[in-house]
Amino acid sequence: MKILRHPDAVREEVMQWRCHGQQVGFVPTMGYWHAGHVSLLDAARQRCSKVVASIFVNPTQFGPNEDLERYPRNLENDLALAQAHGVDLVFCPQAQDMYTPDHDTWVEVPHLSQGLCGASRPGHFRGVATVVTKLFWIVQPHVAFFGEKDWQQLAVIRAMVRHLSCPVEIVGCPTVREPDGLAMSSRNVYLTAEERAQAPALFAMLQNLRQRVAGGERNVDALKGAGLRYLAEHLPLGRLDYLEIVHPDTLVPRTQVEPPTLAAVALFLGKARLIDNLCIG
Ligand code: AMP
Repeated sequence: MKILRHPDAVREEVMQWRCHGQQVGFVPTMGYWHAGHVSLLDAARQRCSKVVASIFVNPTQFGPNEDLERYPRNLENDLALAQAHGVDLVFCPQAQDMYTPDHDTWVEVPHLSQGLCGASRPGHFRGVATVVTKLFWIVQPHVAFFGEKDWQQLAVIRAMVRHLSCPVEIVGCPTVREPDGLAMSSRNVYLTAEERAQAPALFAMLQNLRQRVAGGERNVDALKGAGLRYLAEHLPLGRLDYLEIVHPDTLVPRTQVEPPTLAAVALFLGKARLIDNLCIG
């Protein structure tokens, strides 16, 4: 397994592979890997003859009051997992090699970026779309793998690739969860024991909404009301950011539940902000 820090070295390596007809799969991450990240590596390994993973805590997707400085890191453990899961190349760039001091070019997908997480994290998806574009130019993969846990991010990237005629196939992979249902996230490490004990109620609430839909409920306001009551009862330590019921591709809010419909939620819990989503109809 190669570990490369400089974009030019990665480009050179992948160029060689591509010349020899290899199919290159790519998993972009911010590190501090858990089983969710590993599921993307495994999906890439299954599908492609070469697998590249990147580890880069991208400063441009963090807001001024967000957790850039304290974002958890454990490169040694990530590299061990990469090795164990057959990754061929890990790209760990430094910020100064990704962004020149005069950096002033941005990739924006404004409509898909404005609601849900975009409302409370202005500029976040611009940072994501920009760094993923740059990573695609450096790594030049055939296929790239993203988690459905970050549903809006996946929608933004799919649109960005389509709009820019980017020659990369985007594959979405299912959310990996703890045994109690909590979606795995590097940020779960911020939770205290008491907060962690309440956190599974976020997914339980989404499942409860899905049950209500299965039972015939179609009214979005009624579902949202039920969701809020569920969280107030089972997750009193949390502070809701949003609970929305949307079309999964356009992210436009639904007025009635009809297939396909996605429920998406974000909630502040102690030092963490948890997100989750579930197809409910
Ligand atoms: P991050 O390191 O948080 O930027 O995440 C890197 C990639 O892993 C993104 O495509 C995420 O959507 C994906 N990911 C994070 N958590 C999970 C999870 N619990 N299940 C599946 N994919 C995940």
